[in-house]
Amino acid sequence: MQSSVLSGKTYFIRTFGCQMNMHDSERVSGLLDSCGCLEVAEPAEADIVIFMTCCVREAADTRLYGQCSSCKSLPAPPGGKRVIAVGGCIAQRDGAGLLTNLDNVDVIFGTASIAHVAELLEQAFVEGGHHIRCEEKDSGAATDMPWHRAENYRAWVPIMTGCNNFCSYCIVPYVRGREKSRSFEKIVDEVTGLVRIGVREITLLGQNVNSYGRDLFGTPRFAELLRAVGDTGIERIFFTSSHPKDLLPETIDAMAEVPAVMPQLHLAVQSGSSRILKLMNRRYTREQYLALIDQVRERIPDIALSTDIIVGFPGETEEDFEQTLSLAEQVGYAHAFTFIYSKRAGTPAATIEDPTPRDVILERFNRLVKVIEDGAYAYNQHDLHTVVPMLVEGTSKKDATRLLGKSPKNQTVHAPIPEGYTVDELIGKIVDVDVDRARTWYLSGTVVGSPR
Ligand code: SF4
Repeated sequence: MQSSVLSGKTYFIRTFGCQMNMHDSERVSGLLDSCGCLEVAEPAEADIVIFMTCCVREAADTRLYGQCSSCKSLPAPPGGKRVIAVGGCIAQRDGAGLLTNLDNVDVIFGTASIAHVAELLEQAFVEGGHHIRCEEKDSGAATDMPWHRAENYRAWVPIMTGCNNFCSYCIVPYVRGREKSRSFEKIVDEVTGLVRIGVREITLLGQNVNSYGRDLFGTPRFAELLRAVGDTGIERIFFTSSHPKDLLPETIDAMAEVPAVMPQLHLAVQSGSSRILKLMNRRYTREQYLALIDQVRERIPDIALSTDIIVGFPGETEEDFEQTLSLAEQVGYAHAFTFIYSKRAGTPAATIEDPTPRDVILERFNRLVKVIEDGAYAYNQHDLHTVVPMLVEGTSKKDATRLLGKSPKNQTVHAPIPEGYTVDELIGKIVDVDVDRARTWYLSGTVVGSPR
C-alpha cells in the first residue's frame, strides 16, 4: 500500500507499557513500512513521531506528557513539517481530551483504530489540524494486519484482545474492550509461517490467554491451541497473561505434555489476602491460588513461576500485607513485578478512600521486594552447575564482550562470547551455558559445545 503523501517520510515510535502495546507498535510500523516510510532511531530525524501509550500505570501518563511536549523544541525535520501522533490506551481513554494538555498533537488514534493510522497521518500532512479516531470496538482487521518485527528469531503472536474480568483497580476492560479471540486457524497458520522463516520462539499474547476461544466456541480452547501451536515445529512457546481463575487442568496438562511449551508461568496473584482479593474482584481466594500452584508444580516440578503484586490497595492492613508476604515466601517466585497501587480514574477502586500513610505503604513495598529477591535468588540456585540452553539476544549493555539471552525458564543468562564467533553470528542461535554463577536476576557461565 504505497502512499504518495507518506512515501519517503521518516518515522519514530516510542512505546510505553506492556507487550500488547509493543505488538501494537509493530503493527503501526508494518503499516507505515508498507506506505513507503522509513523508521529512524531519533525523534529529531523523524517527519512523524508516534507515542504508543499505556494507561495502566501512572508513570506512563507522566512520561507521555513530558516527551510529547519536548517535541516542540526539536529542530524542523528533513521534510519541513513534523506530525505528532498519540496511539494506544491513553488515546483510547481520553480521545480529543488529550489536546487539553498536549496542544502539539496532530493525530490521535485508539487501540481499535490502528488500521486507520496511515489515512489519519496523510490528512494531517495535507490538511493540517487535528485528526482523531477512537472507535469503541475493534473490527478485528488490525490484528491480522502485516507487521514489522524487530527480530527474526522470536515473535509475539496476539491470540486475543480485551478482557472481561473487571478487576476493580484496572482500566483495561474500559479501554481495550471485551475479550475478542482471533481465529484458531489464523493463529496456527501464522505460527507455521513464522517457523518457515526461521522464528524459534513465540510468546502468545492476550490480556487473559486462558480464556482464549470462549467468545468463539462457548468454552475456552487455550489448551487445544497450545497443542496445535506445539505441532507447528516452533521450538519455544511462552504465553502471557494468565488469570488464575481461568487456568484449567487441561491447560496445565498441555503445558506439561507439549515439549515446546517452556517451563515458565506468569500467574498474577496481586495480593495474598483473600479479603483484598475480594475487594479487587479477582474471584479466587488465597487458598485457591495456592492449590493451583500445587497442581502446576505436581505436573511441572521445576517450573519458574512469576507474578504481579500490588502493595497499598485501598484499605490494605498490616495483616493483609503480611498475608501477601507469606504467600510470596511460600511460592518462591522466580520473578515478580511489584507495584505500589496507583488510582486509575474510572475504576471502582478509585472511589475507595484509603487512610494508610504513604510511608507505611513504601515500607511494606520494600519488605516485599526483599522477600521476592530472596525467593528469586534461591530459585536460581537450582540451575547452578547445570547446563542451560540460552537463546542469544545480543550482548550485555554493560559489557559488549558478554552474550545475553534467555533460558527456557525465562531467566537472563550471560556468558563471554565464545572464541571464533561474532555476536551477529550468534543472535538467534541457542548455545549451551555451563552455569557457574547464579544471582538474584541472572545466571552466568561459559558456552560449551556448538551453537545451533
Ligand atoms: S484480568 Fe483484571 S488486571 Fe488483567 S486486564 Fe483483565 S481486568 Fe485488568
